[in-house]
Amino acid sequence: MNVQKIIFTTIFSFFIHTCFADNYPRNYSIDIIHYAFELKLSDESDQISGKASIRVLFKTNDISQVRLDLINKTTERAGKGMQVESVTYNNVKVDFKHEQDALFIQLGSPAEKDKISTIVIVYKGVPADGLRIGPTKYGDRSFFNENWPNRARHWLPTVDHPYDKATSEFIVTAPVKYKVVSNGLLQEESQINKDFKLTHWKQSVPVSCWLFVLGVAEFAVQQVGEFDGKSIETWVYPKDREAGFYDFASPTKQVLQFYTDYVGPYAYEKLANVQTPSVNGGMETSSAIFYGEALVTGKYDTRLRNVVIHEIAHQWFGNAVTESTWDDAWLSEGFATFFTLLFQENAYGYEEYIEGLKKARKTVFDLQKKDSTFSIVANRSAETGPVTSGLTYQKGAWVLHMLRERIGHDNFRKGIQAYYQKYMNANVSTDDFIEEMEKVSKENLKPFFNQWLNRPDILKINAGWEYDAKARQVIINVNQSQSSGFIFDTPVEFLVYEDGIKKPLRLKFNIDKKTAQFKAACSQKPVLILADPRTVLLADIDFR
Ligand SMILES: [Zn+2]
Repeated sequence: MNVQKIIFTTIFSFFIHTCFADNYPRNYSIDIIHYAFELKLSDESDQISGKASIRVLFKTNDISQVRLDLINKTTERAGKGMQVESVTYNNVKVDFKHEQDALFIQLGSPAEKDKISTIVIVYKGVPADGLRIGPTKYGDRSFFNENWPNRARHWLPTVDHPYDKATSEFIVTAPVKYKVVSNGLLQEESQINKDFKLTHWKQSVPVSCWLFVLGVAEFAVQQVGEFDGKSIETWVYPKDREAGFYDFASPTKQVLQFYTDYVGPYAYEKLANVQTPSVNGGMETSSAIFYGEALVTGKYDTRLRNVVIHEIAHQWFGNAVTESTWDDAWLSEGFATFFTLLFQENAYGYEEYIEGLKKARKTVFDLQKKDSTFSIVANRSAETGPVTSGLTYQKGAWVLHMLRERIGHDNFRKGIQAYYQKYMNANVSTDDFIEEMEKVSKENLKPFFNQWLNRPDILKINAGWEYDAKARQVIINVNQSQSSGFIFDTPVEFLVYEDGIKKPLRLKFNIDKKTAQFKAACSQKPVLILADPRTVLLADIDFR
């Protein structure tokens, strides 16, 4: 985001509230570099004791207050929520105000520009959300988080928005029977007394805080192998040991290899596939991915396999390259959905790819009927409403599929690689992506993206054909019949089978008006004409 907008946001913050959906109070003058969370968990109660040491880089000289997200303990939450006991700034106790789920820390004297300072927050409470403390499907006690999209603040003081990425440490003290999994590399695992064990994980790659992960339970852990010197691990409930080890044995390594070759290097330090009660499908938490406990069946289910591919794709898209705002959530979900299809095409064949696209297209039509106003890219805020719909995933994937067909597979791949290389471990906007794709294709792609991303319309085509025997021509009439009145500008393809001629005739026309007529030389009356035979247009086509 540019500087003008920051000033605008500050001055007209009230106005912004109604103008822009993403009203998160960003502060570009501070940058969180690193979070170290020391957490104490027990079996006696669901209260957690926390100490967050946060390293902050100040970018200006005038900052005297730092705002963080942290959910308050309130009676409305039945006494759940967090209570702050003390805050220090560079080892000096400072004043703070914790109200309406925000923690305002007074620095005393303004911070020095370009200096990194440390803020330490000591707090405790029973999480109302964000960290699920409760039984697994087997009734065993466990602690698993679910931060997406803005629930880290329920148990961790954070800048709880994707725009600020940071490295992290989780130093967890928990009853000895549990194992602890988190982001990055294991630094220490020590029994500190008869009852408690300390486990320390550290991630040296910055991510947005929805990607922080913590799983504490009795676990069976398997080293599955290595990729590029990084370990691949399976973490499942001991009761699902055999089933889970079997289910996660593949295709993780193959998927890591494919995206590394196609996109660029894997950003993280290991990859653990972890069974959890905290999500139903999957959650792409960086380097330790969560999978809903019911997905583990011991049958190497296609559903679980596809979730594994999707969540690993996120390690590149969403995790390493992250949308700056939820407006652009498709850069995460649309990409992970498309790159799942791309892996399937590569590993299981073209048919599976096309089947996936057809399924996605049907979902798009079904969802669009339910919500005809949903645009992929629009003003969105996790504080005010949902940041994605199924359309973000399925239509988003289709946009990338159509883009690849439009600019060519080689250009698409080059563009993806350039985009990844430029923005790895950073934040992006849709415009940043378009710019990279325009560079490789040397085309103005703005109209293409605008019609598919910034508008809710679905292209509907009513088309028919006739044969002019005298002129030896096939005539195809195309009508854009979407009720919104918006007219798409897009190529549409037909495949004409003539009687007695083996090789069908390929036709490609551009439509940019409500109705259009196309003629093509054709020596025989066609026996069959197919519209969109290659499945490359996201359109509801009625062709007869
Ligand atoms: Zn996803």
